[in-house]
Amino acid sequence: MMVAMRVLVVEDEKRLAAALRRGLVSEGFAVDVALDGTQGEWMATAQVYDAIVLDIMLPGVNGYQLCGRLREQGTWTPILMLTAKDGEYDEAEALDTGADDFLSKPFSYVVLVARLRALVRRGSAARPAVLACGDLVLDPASRRCSRGGTPVELTARELAVAEYLLRHAGDVVSKAEILDHVWDFAFDGDPNVVEVHVSALRRKLDRAFGRASIETVRGAGYRLVDDRG
Ligand code: CA
Repeated sequence: MMVAMRVLVVEDEKRLAAALRRGLVSEGFAVDVALDGTQGEWMATAQVYDAIVLDIMLPGVNGYQLCGRLREQGTWTPILMLTAKDGEYDEAEALDTGADDFLSKPFSYVVLVARLRALVRRGSAARPAVLACGDLVLDPASRRCSRGGTPVELTARELAVAEYLLRHAGDVVSKAEILDHVWDFAFDGDPNVVEVHVSALRRKLDRAFGRASIETVRGAGYRLVDDRG
């Protein structure tokens, strides 16, 4: 029994776009077509698709840029990129920008459909899981953090420290561990930089909400806890 899948096709060549639509519809997919990158971006974020077929060569926003933007915005719909040339360079770049798979033109529908089905089955592998401890939530993919649903603005470094604490919620983590994971291995500055960032996090994530979730464990380090009582 086949489940209908909704696919967005972003392709500026009208004949190819129409052929793609016909081919995929006949395979039981529900298909929407965007004829340029801007329209594609709008549609991909306004609606939920099971997969996106994305051409690289598009006027305005090209496929690489569109893929990168969608990932930045936290849209993790699986993307199958259509590369014009079959060069390794294209494929590497497609995967680099966050595409899940690629297919070189010209391609056969049998292969396209098989790839799409496989993509939808396995979903987007790129998306990291959202981290939470109590009502503190951090999404590493969109780089957003919130407390009780209220967004909190963090610097890139604060976000990285918060992410490390969240990944080890309930455990004691030492300053040295945080330093190792969040700062460059070649960092040889003052290890107190960790304290500076932890106090910024306490101010933004705890005190601003009347909370105390980042505990100091004397002589050992820090522990993030669910302090909702
Ligand atoms: Ca094109």
